[in-house]
Amino acid sequence: MSKRICIIGSTGSIGKSALDLFDSTLSDYRVLALSANENAEELAAQVKKYRPKYAVLSRPEKAHLVRRANKGTKVLTGIDGLIKIASLKEADLILLAVVGAIGLIPLMAAARAGKKIGMANKESLVMAGDIVLNEVRKYGAEIIPVDSEHSAIFQCLKGNNIRDVKRLIITASGGPLKDLSAAEIRNITPERALKHPTWRMGKKITIDSSTLMNKGLEVIEAHYLFGLPYEKIDVIIHPQSIIHSMVEFVDGSIIAQMSYPDMRLPILYALTYPGRRARLDEPMSFADIGKLEFFRVNFNKFPCFNLALAAGKAGGTMPSVMNAANEVAVNNFLNKRIKFDKIAYYVAAAMKKHSLIKKPGIDQVLRADLQARAGVEEMINA
Ligand code: MG
Repeated sequence: MSKRICIIGSTGSIGKSALDLFDSTLSDYRVLALSANENAEELAAQVKKYRPKYAVLSRPEKAHLVRRANKGTKVLTGIDGLIKIASLKEADLILLAVVGAIGLIPLMAAARAGKKIGMANKESLVMAGDIVLNEVRKYGAEIIPVDSEHSAIFQCLKGNNIRDVKRLIITASGGPLKDLSAAEIRNITPERALKHPTWRMGKKITIDSSTLMNKGLEVIEAHYLFGLPYEKIDVIIHPQSIIHSMVEFVDGSIIAQMSYPDMRLPILYALTYPGRRARLDEPMSFADIGKLEFFRVNFNKFPCFNLALAAGKAGGTMPSVMNAANEVAVNNFLNKRIKFDKIAYYVAAAMKKHSLIKKPGIDQVLRADLQARAGVEEMINA
């Protein structure tokens, strides 16, 4: 069955992989809308190729480049444009593929429009999971996870009752720095931290993977998506990244979902769900893989994981503060303004400074986010 898809964040890593799938596997699917934050040149090239009905460039300055790319495409700008394409009536699925807190506003719009949402923006769920899921339920929207771990759990749960789940076992590759000592990690360069052993992903998530912040964010994401308490969510290091996550049931049975690590697979599943599409890539060879290994997480070496978990358990505005501080710190690490171990330092400092609001509205969540950003920038500039 053909579908009409909106891709919010089409020039990022997930967005580009999704468009790859339109070329190779989903040629009958229609690209209804595309959006980018500021990469006008790339968005223009995509608009020329896929001729969507709408395109949104968040920053208006270079919108003329996108307008020139295809006469039939209506080009919008700013947050209003994002809200418009996130809630399009004719869209069968909204793929939310932007990175960071900016995803929250289109996510809320899609939820309120009762859309099916392919969820590749973990930050927005981390910030405001309770609020988002309330809107999802109220307006009959549906979230299909795209994060590989959550896609795995989502697939393992099919045909089972969530009440029969004993625990979720989220796998982690361990990131690019797992074999280094704490002393070596302290002075690591962005170039080194960006060399992920198994997954090819965008910069922000690859740094989050090197600090294990990504796994912390994923535990919070799983807590909201599957409605399970933190005590029922475990993390284990699995360097081969073949098992993408597992579900253990009350009877002791464990179901795992596996494939070679390739983000196109969870993206494809979200796009075709509840169906599946044949893909022509090489079949997985267990004999070539040889062994699957598992190790405990060294939490002392990676303090960001525990910071994320503490924020998740505190709830309210705390995850929003933790996430915002992390985004700012990661950016400053990538720009070589702070050292690697200062990422956790600034996240901890922002959380310590924050006065928790236990049951916030969306405005309070966004204000906590902005305050944490300003606070960390100020500390870094001091
Ligand atoms: Mg993941």
